Amino acid sequence: MHKRRIVLRSISTIAVVSAAGIPLSAFALQKVDPKEPQAVSLGYTDDSKTVDTKKYPKHDPSQTCDTCQFYQAAQQAGNIAPCSVFGGKGVAAKGWCSAYTRKPA
Ligand code: SF4
Repeated sequence: MHKRRIVLRSISTIAVVSAAGIPLSAFALQKVDPKEPQAVSLGYTDDSKTVDTKKYPKHDPSQTCDTCQFYQAAQQAGNIAPCSVFGGKGVAAKGWCSAYTRKPA
């Protein structure tokens, strides 16, 4: 009886998530916390428009994770995808860090 309830709850949770348009794979990807040490040292932010340009004078607002060669767009779920600089943790498509390297055209 107890197991049956757990299974039914899991199924309904999946149904709600699917109905909300959230890909299930989005939950498997651990997101970079901008406050974690590596993120702080690279100046990572979820929004490229908020970069401190005094600290990073070469930053350009057109530089976003989704145009960086380290952004693994093929595995994008929602608005995040793994970044190889952060060991495969998820970064925001419109994020930025000082390791930004534009994708070759
Ligand atoms: Fe974004 Fe590129 Fe920095 Fe990764 S290396 S966080 S994709 S700018």
